[in-house]
Amino acid sequence: MSSPAVYSASCLCGAIKLSLEGEPSVQGACHCNNCQKVSGAACSTNAMFPLAGLKIVSGEPKVYTVTNTGSGKPVQLNFCGTCSSPLWTYSERRPDRAIIKTGVLDDAGLSKFDPKGETFTTQRATWLKPIEGAVQLERGVPVQQAPVFK
Ligand SMILES: [Zn+2]
Ligand SMILES: [Zn+2]
Repeated sequence: MSSPAVYSASCLCGAIKLSLEGEPSVQGACHCNNCQKVSGAACSTNAMFPLAGLKIVSGEPKVYTVTNTGSGKPVQLNFCGTCSSPLWTYSERRPDRAIIKTGVLDDAGLSKFDPKGETFTTQRATWLKPIEGAVQLERGVPVQQAPVFK
């Protein structure tokens, strides 16, 4: 029996380091306006790792709760209060998941966990093309459809 994979993530200044055990259940790019604000970019790229496998190795993330979400359920953004890197999102819709921003994964995790689907495509920047082969959804991922993003 092989032990589960362990990945690591860190913020820009290095104060916060995370370790993640297990594999993500969903890999996606989100084009919603909230993700654009949080990332300061066209979209956020996310991978839903098991929350039980998330360990904070060093530092203490700050938390901001967003209430105007697409689902109406609040989500908590965990980020570095020193350098502002977004780290992961917690959503009541998926209480067993840590929705990691893949840009903070170490060891080329951004490429390894490529988006299998795109959400809120109606809010996608007009100059950005759909990712080839990725499922296209006009809203978020219905919880029961999560497997299409794997
Ligand atoms: Zn930092
Ligand atoms: Zn989003």
